[in-house]
Amino acid sequence: MKKFLLILIPFILFAYKVDIQVWKRHYTFYQFLKDNNLPLSIYYNLNTKLKREVRHIPKGTIYFILKNNNKFKQALIPINSKNQLQVIKKQNKYITRIVPIIYDTIKRKVTITVNHYLSYDIYKETGSELLTRKLINIFSDKINFKKIPKHTIINIIYDEKTRFGKVKGIKILFASIQNRFYHYMAFLNPYDNRYYDQHAKSLKGMFLPAPLRYKRISSYFGMRFHPILHKWRMHDGIDYVNRIGTPIHAVADGKIIYKGWIKGYGRAVEIRHKDGYMTLYAHLHGWPRGIYVGKWVKQGQVIGYLGNSGLSTGPHLHFGVMHYGRWINPLKIKNSARITLWGKKRRKFLSYIQKFTKQNNIALK
Ligand SMILES: [Zn+2]
Repeated sequence: MKKFLLILIPFILFAYKVDIQVWKRHYTFYQFLKDNNLPLSIYYNLNTKLKREVRHIPKGTIYFILKNNNKFKQALIPINSKNQLQVIKKQNKYITRIVPIIYDTIKRKVTITVNHYLSYDIYKETGSELLTRKLINIFSDKINFKKIPKHTIINIIYDEKTRFGKVKGIKILFASIQNRFYHYMAFLNPYDNRYYDQHAKSLKGMFLPAPLRYKRISSYFGMRFHPILHKWRMHDGIDYVNRIGTPIHAVADGKIIYKGWIKGYGRAVEIRHKDGYMTLYAHLHGWPRGIYVGKWVKQGQVIGYLGNSGLSTGPHLHFGVMHYGRWINPLKIKNSARITLWGKKRRKFLSYIQKFTKQNNIALK
């Protein structure tokens, strides 16, 4: 909020008026320009990426218009979770630029004893549903969250990002889960944004066990009688069944090398990973904003939605893994080695958690 005021201060000194507006359902950037008597050239002069972003401003976005005697002077419109578009009128010219959105960040520490069930106990303590999902995501390779023993103690230290009193994001910095069977710790490494334990071992392998939450697997890797083509064919991936629209996650960090229609596979995404791996996600219903060829994605990032496009007998995801040009069985990579930090990266991480644990009174075991 403070920096936002700084941007506006030269105007506020002259007692200009700020209109706080909410981006309505189906409202368009085009309409916004029209409503404020702004030239369409503002849109046409944006670069391709910005054009795409201003066409997809989500409803409910809070934006500002600064006016003087009811005449447009400036607008600030958030276009994604990090940045906003600033439109400034100077004499008779319009200038656009990108400025960061300023959030209020509060650091929170909670200790929760699981008495009923995890999401309920966390919600009761913090009022957050997102926190449970993030926690499960961090430990999903280690812990079966369907069977959390009673009296398990959970400690979480996290940053809560808010804007105008609304929670806009949560970042878990540290979490521990302890009971008489196990005691796990996770630290967010600020240098690579991954979670590691106190021995600098990552909590997840290079690959997620599956790219989605699924109901069942309808077809495995190997020879099968093709349900549409009625021929024996090699099935070079795995078919996961769930509802249309189920989010599909990148199983590993990588770069998108294809996004579009592939004959038979329908709407698809291909991601190239390190060590000669490539993954394919097919029969998609669609893609979230910001997914395009050349984009780097993180493990777990949503890269599409489950669908029924292409040659498909029902809503499912066809997931393929290629290794140095050959399709391999995706189930065979699920227990890939965890990443352990070595050398300089390890030293930096360990000295970070030294400081962090001291500041927060966490005993390393
Ligand atoms: Zn398939």
